[in-house]
Amino acid sequence: MFKRLVFRTTKHNRYSVTAIVGAILSEVNDIEILETKNVAEILQYPVTDTAVAFSFMTFDLDTVVEELRLLKSHGYTVIAGGPHTTALPFEMLKLGFDYVFLGDGEENIVRFLKGERPENRMFDGIKNRVDLNKFPPICEKKKLFMPIEISRGCPFDCGYCQTPRLAGKVVRHRDIEQIVEYEKISVKHGKTIARFITPNAFGYGSKNGVTPRPDIVDELLFKVKSTGVKEIYFGTFPSDVRPESVTDEMVKVVKKYVNHNYVVIGAQSGSNRILNLIRRGHTIEKVEEALEILAQNGFYAKVDFIFGFPFETKEDVEQTFNFIEKIVKKYNSKIHAHTFMPLPGTPLASVGPGILQDYHYKFLGQLAAKGILDGYWLKQEELAKKAAQNIKLKAGNSF
Ligand code: SF4
Repeated sequence: MFKRLVFRTTKHNRYSVTAIVGAILSEVNDIEILETKNVAEILQYPVTDTAVAFSFMTFDLDTVVEELRLLKSHGYTVIAGGPHTTALPFEMLKLGFDYVFLGDGEENIVRFLKGERPENRMFDGIKNRVDLNKFPPICEKKKLFMPIEISRGCPFDCGYCQTPRLAGKVVRHRDIEQIVEYEKISVKHGKTIARFITPNAFGYGSKNGVTPRPDIVDELLFKVKSTGVKEIYFGTFPSDVRPESVTDEMVKVVKKYVNHNYVVIGAQSGSNRILNLIRRGHTIEKVEEALEILAQNGFYAKVDFIFGFPFETKEDVEQTFNFIEKIVKKYNSKIHAHTFMPLPGTPLASVGPGILQDYHYKFLGQLAAKGILDGYWLKQEELAKKAAQNIKLKAGNSF
């Protein structure tokens, strides 16, 4: 049995590590949990009673492989979870991880620490999904406070997104009473800004995760407010809102409680042909309808767009640029730009990296200069190339 578990943290796995640490410390008493960004630090712990945990994105894989090689050469037990591992579990075992964790990790990491060792070295959190209410979204013992995950899973099938595969297509909501309890704990520790993790904030409480339930959201936000939080952010980072969940009634409810005058809307393209190809499940007309409702209620939108799909034509791009110009002018929208990244396990995994052309740089650069565009689109162009390479990184790199 291990006496300690060391998480290799990155800026991309903070939320998931917090949820997993919270789950462990609510179920296992005799374990030391450590976090480090520096793999050399891990080498000071005895090999025999230390396990090391990685949770990583595809573009982090080359660093992970280097560190895995180092840890295994010293004899550590090394485990992996997260989006890349869930998509390519066999490849990760071949790379040298001792055990892999697919999908939801909370129950399985507890099983692992209690001594369970499946013969195939895979802990399956896809077949066996967890009930969010059984595990805390924060970790009071270690004073780890994060936005509270209120829903997990997404019924959509966007071709570039790992969420439905990692978190499932059935939406699970955390009960309001639970959310309120954890907000109270956060407030007690001086964390008085309430933010939430969910793929679609305006779908909270809804059976299918899409059809809005303003009555439930009203109850949620009213009760959260009564915990003593000073600010509430709902439908902004780190969550998104689907355009079809924006209704007049929902926006009016949200407006009563929140400390912001914008909402993050996922549009992704201004071309209906591209929206269809990437399986977004909505049209540009639906996006505009949502922006209109928001504007009527005094909100503007930060609208997400993805650029550089290898299959987009000049005409698609022109349509997207025209759509952006229109919504900036008519609805005062701001643009959040991404470059397409091919991710394993998604329908678009094998189409190649997102490629930006001169006209992208020119148009996006102009919007940025006007102060109406942000996002990591330039950095993502590099990450997209890495992701495309790392999808191919298989047993050839094992040791
Ligand atoms: S992009 Fe959003 S709506 Fe689409 S599958 Fe991912 S989480 Fe769901």
